[in-house]
Amino acid sequence: MTERTFFESSWRTPTQPDVGFWKCHSIPRVVFISESPLRYAKWTQLFCSDNRSKTCIEDAGMKATSKIAVFDTTLRDGEQAAGTRLGSRDKITLARQLARLKVDIIEAGFPASSPEDFDAVRKIAQEIEGPTICALSRAVAADIESCGKALAKAARPRIHTGIGVSDIHIMGKFRDERYGKTLEGKKAKLMALAVDAVKRARNCVGDVQFYAEDAGRAAPLYLFEMLEAVIDAGATVVNIPDTTGYTVPEQYGELIRGIRDNVPNIARATISVHCHDDLGLAVANSLAGIRNGARQVEGTINGIGERAGNAALEEIVMGIRTRADYYGLSTGVEPREFFRTSRMVADMLGMPVPANKAVVGSNAFAHSSGIHVDGFLKDRRTYEIMRPADVGFTGSRVVLTARTGRAGLRSRLEKLGYELSKQELDTMYQRFLAVADKKQEVLDEDLAALVHDELPPVEQNLKLEYLHSYSGTTAIPTATVRLLVNGKTKEGASIGDGPVDAVYKAIAKLTATHAKLLRYDIRAVTEGTEAMGEVTVHLEIGNRRVMGRGASTDIIEASAKAYVDGLNRLL
Ligand SMILES: [Zn+2]
Repeated sequence: MTERTFFESSWRTPTQPDVGFWKCHSIPRVVFISESPLRYAKWTQLFCSDNRSKTCIEDAGMKATSKIAVFDTTLRDGEQAAGTRLGSRDKITLARQLARLKVDIIEAGFPASSPEDFDAVRKIAQEIEGPTICALSRAVAADIESCGKALAKAARPRIHTGIGVSDIHIMGKFRDERYGKTLEGKKAKLMALAVDAVKRARNCVGDVQFYAEDAGRAAPLYLFEMLEAVIDAGATVVNIPDTTGYTVPEQYGELIRGIRDNVPNIARATISVHCHDDLGLAVANSLAGIRNGARQVEGTINGIGERAGNAALEEIVMGIRTRADYYGLSTGVEPREFFRTSRMVADMLGMPVPANKAVVGSNAFAHSSGIHVDGFLKDRRTYEIMRPADVGFTGSRVVLTARTGRAGLRSRLEKLGYELSKQELDTMYQRFLAVADKKQEVLDEDLAALVHDELPPVEQNLKLEYLHSYSGTTAIPTATVRLLVNGKTKEGASIGDGPVDAVYKAIAKLTATHAKLLRYDIRAVTEGTEAMGEVTVHLEIGNRRVMGRGASTDIIEASAKAYVDGLNRLL
C-alpha cells in the first residue's frame, strides 16, 4: 500500500474501461492505492474523503492532458554537431520556419558559448513570434545571466539549465575536489548547485526547464531526489535526457513511469524526453517515454545532432499522429511544413537527407515492386499509412522563368521562408535572371541554392572574379583564377590532377592558405543535365573547421565558389 496525494486526476472505471472518464470531485484528497498489473494500466483502490470506495484504472498521464509539447533543438543540439556553425541570419530563417511548423518551443542556442550564439538567441527572441524561445545554460551563474539577457525581448522565454546526474558524469566531469571528495559528497554538492541554478533562472524568467544530464544511466533514487528538489526550487519542466543513447524503450519507459510514481511533487512539472540515437532507438525511446506519461518531447529536424544524432521530430510527430488510435495523443505541429523544414535544414548544414529516411526521405513514399505498385493503384491504403501531402510533399511544382518579375520572385522566396531586404532582393533577382537564362525553368530547390550562394552568412573578403579551366582525356588540367582579395585583384594559375584540384591549388596559392579539404560533395539541385550543381566542402586550418558552399550550372565554378566561401569563413 502506498499513500499519495492527488490534486486532479481522471479515472476510468474498470467495468467500463472504454466508456469515458469518471472524475473525482472533492479535491485534494488522500487516497490509498493497491496496485496489480492489468495490461498497460494499474488497478487502484480509492478510499475517497467521503468514504466511498471505488476501484479504478489509472489513466496514463499525471496531468490529464493528451497534448504533447514539441521542443525543437535543431538550432542548439543539432547545429552543435554539424561540423559547422550557422550564421545568425541562417538561424533566424530556420527559426521562422520552425515557427511555421508550429513547434511549441525553439531552443535557440547556448548564449554563453560564444558572442555569435548570444547574438543569434537575442535576435530570435526578438523576432520570432509564436513558440516559446529557450536558451541553454550550465548550472553556472554567468551562463544563466547570459540566457536572461539574450531572452530579455522574448514574449515567452524559457531557460534550460541542468547538471550531470549519472555516477559516470559526476565522477568524470566533476572530478575536481571543490565538488566534494567522495561520490556521496559530490552528489550533495551537485544537488545544491542544481537547486541554486533553478532558483537563479527563476529570478530571470517564469519558465525554467531543468535537464538531468545522462539520466539514462543515472541511479534512479538520486535522480528522483534531484527532480524533487529542482521542482521545489521552481522548475516547470524536467528533462530526462538519455544523453548517450544507452537505454532501450522498455527501460526508458519504466524510468519515466518511475519518475511519475516516485517524485512526490511531479504533478507540478511537465516531464520531457530527450533521446539520442546511438543504438538507433531515439524515436522508439521517446515514444516509450510519452506512453509512460512524458508530455514534452525534444528532438531535431532530420534527427541531426551529436554523434548518431537526436530523435527525429518528424518521425515522432508522425508516429503520434498516424497511431493516434494507439497513443490517444496529439501535437500542435503543422506536419505539412515538415518537407520544407527538412530540406532547409539539410541545405543550411550541408547534411543531405538519405533517400530512405522515414517521413522526409525522397523515397519515403515511392513504391517500386510490382506487387506493391499494383496494390497501391487499386487502393493506396494497401501500402501507404501516411499520405505524402500530409508531410508537405507536393506533386505539382512551382516553376519560375526569366519572365517572372521581381515581385513574383520575392513572393516565392517568402513562401520558402526567406525574407530578403530590398538590396538583397536586387542581387538575387540579377542572379535569378542569369540562371533562368541558362536553364529556362527555376524550381524551389534552385532558389534555395541561390539564396545560400548569393547571400552568404559572413562578410566576403575573398571574391571569385574570374575562372578559366581546361581539361580533357589527354590534356593536363589547368586553371586560371582571378580573385578579389580585400579589394585587390590577384590572378594566378595552376595545374592539377583534375580541374577541381587545379582550381583549388590556384586559389590556395593566391590566398597563401593551406586549408585541408576534409570533404567534398557535389549534388545536382534538380533533375536533368542542365541542373545547377551545388558543391559543399569542409575545410580545416589548424583546429578550425568550416563548411563552404557554392552553386552554379557549371560545376567547376560551383567548386571554386564553395572553396572561396569556406576560406571566407576561416579567415
Ligand atoms: Zn542532447
